[in-house]
Amino acid sequence: MKLGIVGLPNVGKSTLFNSLTKAGAESANYPFCTIDPNVGVVTVPDERLNLLGDFYKSKKVTPAVIEFVDIAGLVKGASKGEGLGNQFLANIREVDAIVHVVRCFEDSNVVHVDGNIDPIRDIETINLELVFSDLEILERRIAKVTKTARMDKEAAKELTFLERVKAHLEEGNLAITLETENEDEDAWLATYNLLTAKPVIYAANVAEDDIADDGGNNSHVQAVREYAAGQNSEVFVICAQIEEEISELDEDERKMFLEDLGLTESGLEKLVRASYHLLGLMSFLTAGEDETRAWTIKIGTKAPQAAGKIHTDFERGFIKAEVVNYQDLLDCGSYAGAREKGLVRMEGKDYVVQDGDVILFRFNV
Ligand code: GDP
Repeated sequence: MKLGIVGLPNVGKSTLFNSLTKAGAESANYPFCTIDPNVGVVTVPDERLNLLGDFYKSKKVTPAVIEFVDIAGLVKGASKGEGLGNQFLANIREVDAIVHVVRCFEDSNVVHVDGNIDPIRDIETINLELVFSDLEILERRIAKVTKTARMDKEAAKELTFLERVKAHLEEGNLAITLETENEDEDAWLATYNLLTAKPVIYAANVAEDDIADDGGNNSHVQAVREYAAGQNSEVFVICAQIEEEISELDEDERKMFLEDLGLTESGLEKLVRASYHLLGLMSFLTAGEDETRAWTIKIGTKAPQAAGKIHTDFERGFIKAEVVNYQDLLDCGSYAGAREKGLVRMEGKDYVVQDGDVILFRFNV
């Protein structure tokens, strides 16, 4: 999974990016982290994984990872090539979801590019650039499809659809709020890869005082929540500055620090939860002496496709999945014990994998 961090200058993007990658990069050793300073790999915190790793005395415990891209340089006019302009927009096209950082903290020492704090105006400034960029893509596609639409019924249908998407964006809407009418439309929309069709998580960056009650007393945060509700986006409240301090601490200190602030989880954990929820993701586990590992899949994925996450051969040669719930396994004390109690199930190709399943795949090579 790849998340792109966007937002106006001076809203706390780099602070957030640095804290996330520092806090989450401990066990991740990915060489490209050091090549591109704007890309960070964060491991997904998962308590189950560590417990399962201890249970098996695994030599290696491998968490799922999220890749973050710090997409700086968006200013008004980016779609017209100002700032890093189109380079910036190209980077966003590759991500699965956008983390849109909005400033909800007051601080006279930190200049706001537009003078005062107004998160909805900020969001709309950025979204407008994304809309402009999408409109360019649509226009290019319309020009192409128009040529064949006269002879080709499919193309004619697509053209009608394209005009509808265009009108929707021209009214200032995001593609993600467009209601498609059939599978063809979904498929077309997917091929355009529009920026405004990507799921968004708004990160409301608040002052330290506002973090304990999750921004409940901050009118800017309320405004962002209302705005996001209208487009099925997630909102999470964070204090980037605090996160940066937290990222410097070791595990025990971190827990104490969070408790002092009245928090139960770090910003990284919150963000991971929000992104999994937004993208409809979950994890299953594989476990053994050599390696215990978490794998990220879409909710509703069937056993062979889940196996395919590990290796394409596993999917092709899929025979069955030996499945046990992670908690059942731990409670029984051993795999054999879980088997004796009938808690290890044999599942076939139609089995829908569940969150927390520990799976052993049987396959033909
Ligand atoms: P970017 O331009 O969006 O990447 O913003 P930066 O992360 O560089 O932050 C801009 C300034 O705002 C820096 O001086 C940060 O220390 C400060 N800043 C970031 N987050 C917070 C916050 O939560 N509270 C306060 N008071 N300042 C912050």
